Amino acid sequence: MSVAEPAGAESLRRRNAAAVVRSLRVDGPGSRADLAARTGLAKATVGTIAAGLEEAGVVRELEQVRSGERGRPGQLLTLAGGRPVGLGLEVNVEYVAAVALDLAGTVRREVTRPVSADGVVAALAEVARQLAADLAGAGLEPVGATVAVPGLVDGDDRTAVWMPNLSATGTAVADAVDQALGWSGRTRVTNDADCSALAELHHGAGRGAGHLLYLTGTVGIGAGIVDDRRLLRGARGFAGEVGHLPVGDPAARCGCGRTGCWEASVGLHALLSAVGMEEVGTPQETAAAVARAAESSADVREGVAVVGRWLGRGLAIVTGVVDPGAIVLGGYFAPLGDLVLAPAADELAATLASSALGTPDLRLGELGTGSAATGAAERALEDVLSGTSDLLGA
Ligand SMILES: [Zn+2]
Repeated sequence: MSVAEPAGAESLRRRNAAAVVRSLRVDGPGSRADLAARTGLAKATVGTIAAGLEEAGVVRELEQVRSGERGRPGQLLTLAGGRPVGLGLEVNVEYVAAVALDLAGTVRREVTRPVSADGVVAALAEVARQLAADLAGAGLEPVGATVAVPGLVDGDDRTAVWMPNLSATGTAVADAVDQALGWSGRTRVTNDADCSALAELHHGAGRGAGHLLYLTGTVGIGAGIVDDRRLLRGARGFAGEVGHLPVGDPAARCGCGRTGCWEASVGLHALLSAVGMEEVGTPQETAAAVARAAESSADVREGVAVVGRWLGRGLAIVTGVVDPGAIVLGGYFAPLGDLVLAPAADELAATLASSALGTPDLRLGELGTGSAATGAAERALEDVLSGTSDLLGA
């Protein structure tokens, strides 16, 4: 018991401190009394925790708006960031990106670099090494690192089991970042749509939504599902692999060799074929060009609407399964705006069995390129925000 008790007290202190920080993140600034009410902790406990967090620079008192005594119970506390940062990295065929995000949700560092000739793993390791040195110089302390990858990641959060466009399967990505940071086995790897879902939840169109479906649109289609503010992963970590659901035009040929897959009707190539245009640059740049062409062409508008209707049809099916509350359309869908959103919303409402089910709120993604790195950084903060590891780095 003499060993177990201090360990239990330590873990309780960690969890209580994390609960206070989570409350300030989700519900905004509050007095010590507010925080006690929100978290269910005793006021005295909140006072002790707040003092420790204030000393560490993670929390500060808001400027006085009226004259009053500093530190009195009614004084509002807010997140100040402090030294702990989550590192979010993203790799894809075009670039490597990295974001350092503090507990207040402020981006403290941001780097984007084209993928080098040495390959993505070498480029990723180099970015991680430089960022780590930069953070150390600035007195910031990485408390976790997550890499967003365009592929399937096993439930162990490290093993990439399928990345069709990058030759970096297995734990190559996780190992490279671990090595760059001087860690062993701490770096996580997460599907990029899952990461973008977290980014939109915390910083974009999903703010205020506890349940969220994020759909990314490129040549393929992938979903990230947030259930009660946590990623829904499934038995093997593959939840959200919706691209090949058989809900598209039955005649449309898919890259997987079959016909009728959802992404064969709503992926980027389906859009280009529907509007009779060619790819120009990234999927987002291509969609922006389609949106410009739609301003003067009814045919282009109708082509986008056809894609939008297939999109709404599939979203209705996914809605029936996960009841998302809000759906955020990212990737190439976002620059198309209402051209795709309006027909998708109409078809979604029309396909749901009953309006009593409640039509999810359909929104456009706000974060664009780089959202996966931001979401990966959020994921990297999860252990300290859940109290699994110590946010004060002890
Ligand atoms: Zn397919």
